[in-house]
Amino acid sequence: MKAKKSLGQNFLTDETILQNIANSIPTNINDLIIEIGPGLGALTKYLTKKNSYLLGYEIDTSLKPYLKIYENNKTKILFQDFLKANFKEDINKEYENIYIIANIPYYITTPIIKKAMTIKNLKSMSLLVQKEVAERFCAKPHSKAYGSLTVYLNYYFDIKYLFDVKKTCFNPIPKVDSAVVNFTKKEKQAKVLNEELFFKLIEDSFQYKRKTLKNNLKNYNLDKINEIYTKYNLKETTRAEELSLDIFIDITNNLSQ
Ligand code: SAM
Repeated sequence: MKAKKSLGQNFLTDETILQNIANSIPTNINDLIIEIGPGLGALTKYLTKKNSYLLGYEIDTSLKPYLKIYENNKTKILFQDFLKANFKEDINKEYENIYIIANIPYYITTPIIKKAMTIKNLKSMSLLVQKEVAERFCAKPHSKAYGSLTVYLNYYFDIKYLFDVKKTCFNPIPKVDSAVVNFTKKEKQAKVLNEELFFKLIEDSFQYKRKTLKNNLKNYNLDKINEIYTKYNLKETTRAEELSLDIFIDITNNLSQ
């Protein structure tokens, strides 16, 4: 079986890591686990042992013979693009909790997360991603890795860096190291008065990383922005990467009033 680079096929072969990923979210028998890209079934094997319901999305139909053996009344594999999934049709039962546990194809990490966020009742997800990307998801203000994606995802999720996975744990061996990250939906999301404005403000704030925040936001109401500068004692030289999620929310809400 020749791995298809174009589909991000790097198969995990380390049994301990596979078990740790499968067990990174405790699930019960009435829950649904979604696996994106089951590949040859290395992780699927451990996910089926959890006795929850399992729904897999694998784009590569040539992998059917490897995955068919896992199908039963609780496990279903759909051979289609996860990004085009119709969850209303595919998830036709009310589950107490829905989780995603997956070793995803790295070339579509952000689209996968954005698509996953549209699943009703999604509670938490553990994803194996590129280490550098994992660091970006978990970055704190003032660090180089902190960016608009960090702020955006931290608005929805509590994000936890779980553990590293060395490139030698895969076949074929990829160029980069990896890490497992857990995203748990925030039970109480901060109140944003205008989400559309919030998302645009985050994008604009980080647009030119070398510019100051005020320079990036010069098309916004500067009086309102200055009020937040005074409130948090921010300097004129402040850049977007120094601001916490709460301050971005505060700016948005101040602009929305
Ligand atoms: N889960 C397996 C493992 O841990 O060894 C395989 C992981 S491999 C990194 C990613 C898998 O995602 C491949 O099997 C690939 O064919 C599949 N894939 C790529 N793009 C996809 C998409 N858009 N939708 C569903 N599966 C996809």
